[in-house]
Amino acid sequence: DRVKVRRALLSVSDKTGLADFAKGLAGLGVELISTGGTAKAIAALGLAVRDVSDITGFPEIMDGRVKTLHPAVHGGLLGIRDDAAHAAAMQEHDITGIDLLVVNLYPFEETRASGASPETIVENIDIGGPAMIRAGAKNHGYVTVVVDPADYAEVLETLKANGGETGIALRRQLAGRAYARTAAYDAAVAGWFAETLGESAPKRLSIAGELAESLRYGENPHQTAGFYRTGEARPGVATARQLQGKALSYNNINDTDAAFELVGEFDPARTAAVAIIKHANPCGVAEGPDLISAYHAALACDPVSAFGGIVALNRRLDAASAEEIVKVFTEVIIAPEAEEEAIAIISAKKNLRLLLTGGLPDPRAPGRFIKSVAGGLLVQSRDNGVVDDLELNVVTKRAPNETELADLRFAFRVAKHVKSNTIVYAKNGATVGIGAGQMSRVDSARIAARKAEDAAEAAGADTPATIGSVVASDAFFPFADGLLSAVEAGATAVIQPGGSMRDDEVIAAADAHGIAMVMTGMRHFRH
Ligand code: 5GP
Repeated sequence: DRVKVRRALLSVSDKTGLADFAKGLAGLGVELISTGGTAKAIAALGLAVRDVSDITGFPEIMDGRVKTLHPAVHGGLLGIRDDAAHAAAMQEHDITGIDLLVVNLYPFEETRASGASPETIVENIDIGGPAMIRAGAKNHGYVTVVVDPADYAEVLETLKANGGETGIALRRQLAGRAYARTAAYDAAVAGWFAETLGESAPKRLSIAGELAESLRYGENPHQTAGFYRTGEARPGVATARQLQGKALSYNNINDTDAAFELVGEFDPARTAAVAIIKHANPCGVAEGPDLISAYHAALACDPVSAFGGIVALNRRLDAASAEEIVKVFTEVIIAPEAEEEAIAIISAKKNLRLLLTGGLPDPRAPGRFIKSVAGGLLVQSRDNGVVDDLELNVVTKRAPNETELADLRFAFRVAKHVKSNTIVYAKNGATVGIGAGQMSRVDSARIAARKAEDAAEAAGADTPATIGSVVASDAFFPFADGLLSAVEAGATAVIQPGGSMRDDEVIAAADAHGIAMVMTGMRHFRH
């Protein structure tokens, strides 16, 4: 099972860690072979290195498109050393075995992300690299393949500890990583083609991710889980910097994502905004002149549920707001930035995670949303509809006044981020009752109203804040009952997509109660 590493071929675009690795290998007496740029870097260290064209007897041609694509290389990677016929072929054609292959690929993903021209992107599709990786990994019975600088140290330690040999277990593990890498690489290439061709549903789906974090467990302790980065440059939980606190759990990541996507709907130049999330649903959202007033208003919506919640902010976290947030048990705070003083205040709470993203996600950005079903995947574009871009159609005798209109927009913006069926009551730029995830819209309306009553009771108020509020529904009212339930709770204005067979009945019910209603023409189901 053990194989002595005598000869290594190194060909890397990312030269990270190369110097130490090459020195270590040379120190173990391993012969180094390399391609143009990599060979130069190794020679610059004062180490002996053979150029690959020396092995192939062929120069690197076509701007490097053809450098290692040669039987002398591929025979050395693929030959089964213990097979008589293979050994004879190697002998006859003067092919020496390559025992260690160190390759990382042309930076296709980075080139694509940099917004380079199509020609440059195509030129960064590596051909020889993946061919060698796949060959070496297939022959992992004899060949050790390393595709990630993060693995250099482990391989070097193994060689040092075992007289320059590797074992089959390590080689098999590395082979698995090697194929995962070439698969992800080709997935990125295929994804780019699908995108440039403007295909909304490409014939074959390619998804690629890099493990960001192996999670302790999934949604429940008996489920395994991992967190993967897709390379999308979107500010959010996957790209954020965690300044302090315990590692994020699966549920934390899911909830933090929901929280930050929601505050991303609020332009920080126009208003401060805060969302408090529990089980991926907001239990309070508010906008205001500053974060601290927005936080207080968001918290007032459902202070009971806010316990153990996730708080997202759309502006730089200030000290005063941090002071208030740490008074309530909170799992995660996520914001674009934070003042030094705010960071210091939060550091007193050791377990509280603080994530800084450096920016806000663009609610209008395109993107892909993926969900798994038994035996398949459902893929759709992101819901990037924004209420400000919609024409609001007044369908009732009474039109909403300016205050109502602002609150209607606010409520619909929030409703987009609440699980369906969704009813959101809002007043003065804050939610006052949220009904989420019910099978009937009437139930969502009742629950939202009841929560507002509970909050009023807890605050010692005489009347629930739904009196004189506005209400948003994520989808049309199929019957007038849902609307009547909102009227009963005290709402004076309604925003909803419209489009029901019984819109006329719903409009008539609104008119009968002096309600102002607008239709957006856009639905925001979320499941
Ligand atoms: P270097 O910097 O050593 O000149 O080039 C290293 C890069 O070349 C590596 O990323 C490796 O995957 C890639 N590479 C090695 N052989 C070939 C080949 O035959 N064709 C192409 N297109 N790329 C290769």
